[in-house]
Amino acid sequence: MALCLGNACGVLCIILTYSFVAFAEYALVLHIALPNYSSGPWAVIHTAAFNALVLMLIIAHVRAATADPGFVPLPYTAIDFSDIRSSPRNQAEKSHEEWTVCNRCEAYRPPRAHHCRVCGRCVRKMDHHCPWINNCVGELNQRHFIQFLFYSALCCVYSATLVVGTWLKEHMGSGKAVILNHKTLTFAILLFVESLLFGIFTFVVFYDQVASVLEDETAVEHAMRRRGSHPPRPHRSRRALLQDVFGRGHVLCWLFPCHAPPIMALNHSPLTEFGV
Ligand SMILES: [Zn+2]
Ligand SMILES: [Zn+2]
Repeated sequence: MALCLGNACGVLCIILTYSFVAFAEYALVLHIALPNYSSGPWAVIHTAAFNALVLMLIIAHVRAATADPGFVPLPYTAIDFSDIRSSPRNQAEKSHEEWTVCNRCEAYRPPRAHHCRVCGRCVRKMDHHCPWINNCVGELNQRHFIQFLFYSALCCVYSATLVVGTWLKEHMGSGKAVILNHKTLTFAILLFVESLLFGIFTFVVFYDQVASVLEDETAVEHAMRRRGSHPPRPHRSRRALLQDVFGRGHVLCWLFPCHAPPIMALNHSPLTEFGV
């Protein structure tokens, strides 16, 4: 289990995440959907639709938080890297396809793997360490992280839309004057502010993640390239890049968090050459 309970900031963010989800669920269902959309089947439809989105959000979050992001296995025996460290070729001169040595893990790592100081391990295709999932975003859980962002943004849009719809019904004179209730008004304002703030935040991060997938460049690689220590990667089709993250299933399955993760082709390990 990759979830690092020793990281206080990460645990706090996890608690905050579920607190915000619980508040949105409570406020939307009990104070917005049920009292304000009680005519016809709309209260049931909105409640069911929002709960379905929340369920997807939670599944994606749990999978992103608990999955192995792509930790590079540690060698069973100590390896002497002194000859490699004394080599005049530095890491920046190496191509994309070369394995490198992590001085902290004392292990070989495949191309595009980087060391996470929080996890204390090298992670394949590491993008960043996210406190909201208390885990690294890497090769094996990036799809669940993107799904989590997608459903979070959808929940925010849905909540904000229902609050605005309630306000419009109130002012268009076609609904019951429930929003004038002080308690309901308070929940509506808080829910709208929460949806607005988290909606913008999750959409920006979602856009950034999809852009990094399509550009075939993780956040770590982007930062290295800005420092001039990471050459651009060779061009690949957008579909191939998306399939690397979301698997080779149907496009509709890409946003379904219950679907099995993609099986990545492991690079040939130089450990075998050293008999490790
Ligand atoms: Zn490492
Ligand atoms: Zn990490």
